[in-house]
Amino acid sequence: MRIEIVAVGTELLLGQIADTNGAWLGEHLAAGGVASHFHQVVGDNLERIVLALRTALARSDGVIVCGGLGPTHDDITREAIAEVMNVGLVRDEAVAAAISAMFASRGRTMPPSNLRQADRPEGASIIPQTKGTAPGLVCPLGQKVIYAVPGVPYEMADMFERGILPDLQRRMAERGELAGVIASRVVRTWGMSESALADALGARIAQLDTGSGAEAGPETEMGASPAGGEGAASSAGGRGRATIAFLASGIEGIKVRLTVRAATSEECAALLDAEEAEVRRILREVGGDVVFGVDEEAIEDAVARSLVGTGWTLGVAESLTGGLISSRLVNVPGASAWFRGAVVSYATEVKTALLGVPLGPVVSEAAARAMAEGAQRTLGATIGLSVTGVAGPDRQDDRPPGTLFIGLALPGVPTEVVATTVPGDRHRVRQYATISALDLLRRRVGAMAPRAFSAGG
Ligand code: ATP
Ligand code: MG
Repeated sequence: MRIEIVAVGTELLLGQIADTNGAWLGEHLAAGGVASHFHQVVGDNLERIVLALRTALARSDGVIVCGGLGPTHDDITREAIAEVMNVGLVRDEAVAAAISAMFASRGRTMPPSNLRQADRPEGASIIPQTKGTAPGLVCPLGQKVIYAVPGVPYEMADMFERGILPDLQRRMAERGELAGVIASRVVRTWGMSESALADALGARIAQLDTGSGAEAGPETEMGASPAGGEGAASSAGGRGRATIAFLASGIEGIKVRLTVRAATSEECAALLDAEEAEVRRILREVGGDVVFGVDEEAIEDAVARSLVGTGWTLGVAESLTGGLISSRLVNVPGASAWFRGAVVSYATEVKTALLGVPLGPVVSEAAARAMAEGAQRTLGATIGLSVTGVAGPDRQDDRPPGTLFIGLALPGVPTEVVATTVPGDRHRVRQYATISALDLLRRRVGAMAPRAFSAGG
């Protein structure tokens, strides 16, 4: 089954926002074993949305439209779909009641235009809303289908997972395209380049490619389905074997995506566990402790995991990151158990007065060391973490933008300072500095912290 994505919104055409929904949907369709061959972007114009939908239906089996489901006059996706289906709009009383109730529960009066969001093309069914007010739509057109979801990214993602992907997989199973279940898991890494990861895993990937004779894995099938042979997409082979793909995720590191196909989701989970263990083993051998988590786990979650149960606390001294490190740490529920706080020591005088940084260049090993120890002492923490460096665009202390010194004061060992250089503009340098510091912390604590369960003596 081939799916086409249509993103609706004049602000997308004008470049005021980027079509991140299209990117997200593309990634998640692929991970779900669904082929998507075209993406379109169209403005808030009825005639052109209708044209986009007709074009999509002519060459694809299903369309996902995102955006234009809101209450205002320029939200016309519903009308466009009704026109393509050649039906009228009917008001869904259950949805209307839910929207009114939502306004009432917040003590607000509902503008009458909001009831437009309860309209659906005749014959369409609803993907219930959980977060915003507009529900999603599933609109059948013969053997084909149009799904409509709101443009707000988290509403779109939620409806895709709940209402679209399961429906697509059911349709594919009916067409005999999907024997069983496809599942994937993302192994998240920091510290190895994409090419180094590809080299490290190259032998494993080749082994998987040839492992079961001439069969192709889920990924290859999707691209390799012969012209016109839609039924071939994701239909045969690959069962029980993983495919491995790399997703560079910028400041969030590089993801290694494992995809498997099996009869049940339990079997998929077991296959993914085995492949994850193998990938972790290979990467550990080649690059050390580069894997910090899986799926949605962020680097701050990895830090939290390394600290929980140790009884250790953390204090931070931030210079060029200006609070980014603390902000990431407090993303984690329960951070108060181990996070003491931070000193954002941006000015040199603050570094000296509050943290005891010696006179001399503040982008230096000596400054990073003093900041880490100063944070440990001043904030009364077991561990002190510090970052000083040059965010750019100008040089500082005769060092180029991207220069970083990360200090880490741990109990019972001399304070460590890691000097490194990261690429990019001011924004990226500050983000890279944040993740590099958190990565160093979770590695070292993971390697040496006392665990509650082993702290018997
Ligand atoms: P609402 O009910 O909130 O009005 P909607 O379905 O009408 O939702 P839009 O008005 O098109 O959706 O978009 C709402 C917001 O969602 C936009 O202002 C924009 O920030 C974001 N958005 C819309 N489309 C996209 C997209 N393709 N990629 C990323 N963000 C998007
Ligand atoms: Mg809108």
